[in-house]
Amino acid sequence: MASVEQTQTVEQPLPSVNGGAPTNGAHSAGGIPVENPATGEIVATVPDLDADAVAEMAKRARAAQPSWEAYGFDGRARVMLRAQKWVMDNAEQIIATIISETGKTFEDASLAEISYAGNAFGFWANHAEQYLEDERVKSSQLLVKGKKLILRFRPLGLIGVIGPWNYPLTNSFGDCIPALMAGNSVILKPSEVTPLTSLLLAEGLRECGLPEDVLQIATGRGETGAALVEHVDMIMFTGSTRTGKKVAETAAKRLIPASLELGGKDPMIVLSDADLERAANFATYYSMQNAGQTCISIERAYVEAPVYDEFVAKVSEKVRALRVGKPEGPGSVEVGAITFPPQLQTIEDHVTDAVDKGARVLAGGHASHAGGGRFYEPTVLVDVDHTMKCMTEETFGPTLPIMKVQDADEAVRLANDSPYGLGSSVFTRDVERGEQIARRLDAGAANVNDAMINYTVLELPMGGAKQSGLGSRHGAGGIRKYCSQQAIVVTPKLALKREPHMYPYKARNSKLLAGVFKFLYGRGKRD
Ligand code: NDP
Repeated sequence: MASVEQTQTVEQPLPSVNGGAPTNGAHSAGGIPVENPATGEIVATVPDLDADAVAEMAKRARAAQPSWEAYGFDGRARVMLRAQKWVMDNAEQIIATIISETGKTFEDASLAEISYAGNAFGFWANHAEQYLEDERVKSSQLLVKGKKLILRFRPLGLIGVIGPWNYPLTNSFGDCIPALMAGNSVILKPSEVTPLTSLLLAEGLRECGLPEDVLQIATGRGETGAALVEHVDMIMFTGSTRTGKKVAETAAKRLIPASLELGGKDPMIVLSDADLERAANFATYYSMQNAGQTCISIERAYVEAPVYDEFVAKVSEKVRALRVGKPEGPGSVEVGAITFPPQLQTIEDHVTDAVDKGARVLAGGHASHAGGGRFYEPTVLVDVDHTMKCMTEETFGPTLPIMKVQDADEAVRLANDSPYGLGSSVFTRDVERGEQIARRLDAGAANVNDAMINYTVLELPMGGAKQSGLGSRHGAGGIRKYCSQQAIVVTPKLALKREPHMYPYKARNSKLLAGVFKFLYGRGKRD
């Protein structure tokens, strides 16, 4: 079984921990300490790789890629299916690693990370070929009649994946899986806050037979990520909109594709005919799950006036019952730590801003540093409006502001009154009306009587509208983006020596062709 060595320093480089990162001192001194946010303890130190080290990794990745591509879909799938089993066999260790660097609960690590990875390794192993096999294309274009037309997908070469700290396995590592299955080599730059899970997974993949240098982990800070964008053929970025725009700028200068999964401010709409008990459970769970540090958390709720009071009472009672603190194994707490230190200030700022502008706190409302950790009490805010940051900016914490609305139209207008457009949800017993409302929401995903669940459906695209991103993960587009497309036109052996549109131009031929065009495109009613 692989092991992540704890409390390593750069003076004692991490050959088994750094996923192939250079161990020759090609990183800046000091390394990066990794803290357990639930206890404040430093659990490991990882190298802070500089631009030269990233360039060196890229060279090695490029050398390794052609033979990985030559494995073919079956060969690559074998490695991924072994990895699927490896994740399940080593789930305990992976969960412990995730918890040690994120401070999330056992359930948040198990349900939203291990189960995702288990599913994703199998899904991409089994579906990559179907999404990327040659497509025979039919055309209405007269000049290619009788020719073989093929759309071919070929791996781009070297993919850079940059990930956030909230889901080190699902969001950072998860995007490497389709990139690898497409036949690319990959360099993953995890968040400096949560690098250990990526290092452990890279070790696991090596045990499963992934050739050396096909996947490398570039531990480091923002500068390491910026250096990575300079060396890859495509960048898959997940993180804040602010950083995503910087990544997009570099990608544009280099003219490489960038897929950007960015921030969100997901609205939930509760109509007066909704099953209120279900809606309240969903509001509670999907706003507080992972301590609210999920891009597609419910970040704000709009509730029709007739059921507002009852909904608020139900949610407040449920939220007050949640236990927050250091995770001590399954069932110990519902809400874990705030992983990223500055996030706590953002959460406090949004709650203070709301209260200063007239909001009331019905549950929670305070930070806690119990046991040396970093926590925020699960919080419900009411009497909120769109002058408040908690309704317009990404809070990324265990808070739920609830706003009363007169009707569905007002709810849709307010839900769409956001620079973001990631996920969304509508609760109503009239599912047809729910679907119609879902179609009016400016969001990459809309769930009727559910929330967030779309992320687990790997057949559906997951991506954001507006400032929430460009491109998507999952589905056909989630693997085709790691490929270039090649159009192949094959003319059969028995072909004319000269085709009718060629030189020399002759009046008879030209008139004949013009007549053919008129016949093809000039007939039929227009109005
Ligand atoms: P950041 O944008 O701060 O960081 C994301 C990654 O980018 C980190 O690895 C970071 O490194 C790196 N980075 C920082 N600066 C640069 C740079 N100039 N060039 C290249 N890379 C850089 O996001 P967070 O880690 O704070 O993640 C939280 C955000 O991610 C939230 O907005 C959340 O909504 C979003 N998110 C979106 C998802 C989606 O699917 N749409 C899913 C999950 C999260 P380092 O950490 O070392 O600074």
